[in-house]
Amino acid sequence: MTKRIFNFSAGPATLPEEVLTEARDNLLSLGDLGAGIMEISHRSPEFDAIIDGAEAGIRRLLGLTDDWAVLFLQGGASTQFTMVPQNLGADADYVLTGAWSEKALKEAQKLGSPRVAASSKETNFDRLPTELDLRADARFVHVTSNNTIFGTQFREVPQTQAPLVCDASSDILSRPLDLSRYAMIYAGAQKNLGPSGVTLVIMRKSLLERSPKSLPTMLNYNTHVEKGSRFNTPPTFGIYFIGLVTQWIEAQGGLAAMDQRNQAKAQQLYDAIDGIDLYQGTVQPESRSLMNVTFKLTDASREGEFLSQAKARGLHGLKGHRSVGGVRASIYNAMPVAGVEALVGFMREFAGA
Ligand SMILES: *Cc1c(COP(=O)(O)O)cnc(C)c1O
Repeated sequence: MTKRIFNFSAGPATLPEEVLTEARDNLLSLGDLGAGIMEISHRSPEFDAIIDGAEAGIRRLLGLTDDWAVLFLQGGASTQFTMVPQNLGADADYVLTGAWSEKALKEAQKLGSPRVAASSKETNFDRLPTELDLRADARFVHVTSNNTIFGTQFREVPQTQAPLVCDASSDILSRPLDLSRYAMIYAGAQKNLGPSGVTLVIMRKSLLERSPKSLPTMLNYNTHVEKGSRFNTPPTFGIYFIGLVTQWIEAQGGLAAMDQRNQAKAQQLYDAIDGIDLYQGTVQPESRSLMNVTFKLTDASREGEFLSQAKARGLHGLKGHRSVGGVRASIYNAMPVAGVEALVGFMREFAGA
């Protein structure tokens, strides 16, 4: 048996063990094909079935109708920061909740004159902004649903008149979504969906007519919609893996069950943070993320010791992002309840509580 730690890394992050095992079994031979999943043509009938299955899994989980396109692209969420304004227009409203939304804004600024509709930078992004100054005629409104670094999350994204574009890299498929609020959702896979190297893009087909013909072929969404994400060689292994993850989520009971489990996991951690004097949450309670739980030690001099003792217990990846410090426990879909329980047990013991 391979020894596995509880991996609280923010991304690439822990993946469901059942899925890893199944993927491993198909590395040498996909079923009885005699060639592994990474070795077959992206134009083969075997791969057609895999990409169709992954798309169908995403469609079933989110309840997407035919007026939505599902794409598997490359270049990470960071490439979407520029593709979105290149295709939809840059005169957009951005809600700033941390480093990722700032990076997204910066890409739009290279292309036009986006506006900042709200920002919580003044308080070092320790909360979500409440007052949004949104224009009905903005090309789109951009939000980051879950701020991976600071640990804030919109429980519900804002209702907007302009089309809402959401970077959901760190909470995609963690809960059911009210699709009526969204025009487009994108997510790098490496937090909640699978390995790095594939980016899921879900968009209303009605947006496609906006893309200027002058765009580089690879940066135009129409290219990928027309070719079913196979204009060039797609990240075949990542797409395969996402398909397995959608099946795994369905076997867990779907997005509502995922959400319940995620809420219970986060609650256990926040209860420990609020109930033990040594710990203090770094985010205002109403803005807390269910995916990335951030806190610090009230005695900062013990932080190094906290992290090294945790690691010795098999609790890895807990060091906070360099821009926030402290501790960050990333508890995406694939983090088992037992991992959170082990962390909470360690926190109590370390604090002598
Ligand atoms: C990790 C992350 C990104 C960056 O994704 P890449 O795939 O590395 O480009 C962007 N946005 C959010 C919210 C993230 O968590």
